[in-house]
Amino acid sequence: MIKRLCLLLLIANYCTAQNLPSRWDELVASDWSKALQQSDSTCILPIGILEKHGPHAPIGSDLIHVREWAARATKKEYAVVFPDYFYGQINEARHQPGTFSLPPTVVWDLLDATCTEIARNGFKKIVIINGHGGNPNLLQYFVQTQLDKKRDYAVYFFTPGRDSAYNSKVTGLRKSDPASDQHAGENETSTLLYLRPELVKMDSAKIESGNNLKRLSIPNVYTAIWWYANYPNHYAGEGDKATAGFGKVITDNTVESLAKALKAIKADNKTLQLQNEFFDRVLGDEHQHNSSIADNLARLRAMLDSGELTKEEYNAAKRKALKE
Ligand SMILES: [Zn+2]
Repeated sequence: MIKRLCLLLLIANYCTAQNLPSRWDELVASDWSKALQQSDSTCILPIGILEKHGPHAPIGSDLIHVREWAARATKKEYAVVFPDYFYGQINEARHQPGTFSLPPTVVWDLLDATCTEIARNGFKKIVIINGHGGNPNLLQYFVQTQLDKKRDYAVYFFTPGRDSAYNSKVTGLRKSDPASDQHAGENETSTLLYLRPELVKMDSAKIESGNNLKRLSIPNVYTAIWWYANYPNHYAGEGDKATAGFGKVITDNTVESLAKALKAIKADNKTLQLQNEFFDRVLGDEHQHNSSIADNLARLRAMLDSGELTKEEYNAAKRKALKE
């Protein structure tokens, strides 16, 4: 009887562990510490965007991608997944309907505050996964600025790995020119056809051109208007060539790569350890604090010498200054 009870308890325990949702917004508060433990304090922040995806693919395509990757990868390697986040750099599509583009400082502050708030809830490792082509420069700079002040968490930025077997599979399946297959083209439309076919209007994929119009060409120079100059339809590639089969190959590779990265991040103690070591050597606030103590002591010494303070008053004030 006891044996059977133990077995039942074991199974029940196993089931709760299995059923622990990954989505932050689907967890119950009483399971929070269990989620922290099971995730090794790891939270994924999937970042998408709201922008036109050619004439045929949904405005939230990038968000759909990152959420699906996170949902699938966390089935293999548990982590908590932050809810829908679609605030990033998308100034270049503001002439198209459905684009949601916040002012740059709001985008920045929101991302920083979101990470701080995720960490306040107990997470030590925040994994940004990005689905939008206009975001990597912003996100890389954001990660670099994590060293501006001491934090008790680390931010990791995931990029899917691609080995030669995958690359040759992709080359065999792709029908359009890889150089022009960018935004809502064959690649992106294929993954959507695989993940959310009901949202793709394949019969509209050719009503606009996804060709590079090359309307601006200044060698070795970067401008803000370059994308609009090339792709005013906010469409780059040939979405009509997409297939769900191609989409599955791309998605499986990304999910596999993300699950691998999650496993490594969960096991990683080095990043935070080095981050802490780094801050111990940074001459920042602490250095300033120490020099203000030295200034105070010098001022007290001068007051003692001029007779403004008695020896006892000086000693008491000195003790106080050293404690601060
Ligand atoms: Zn996209």
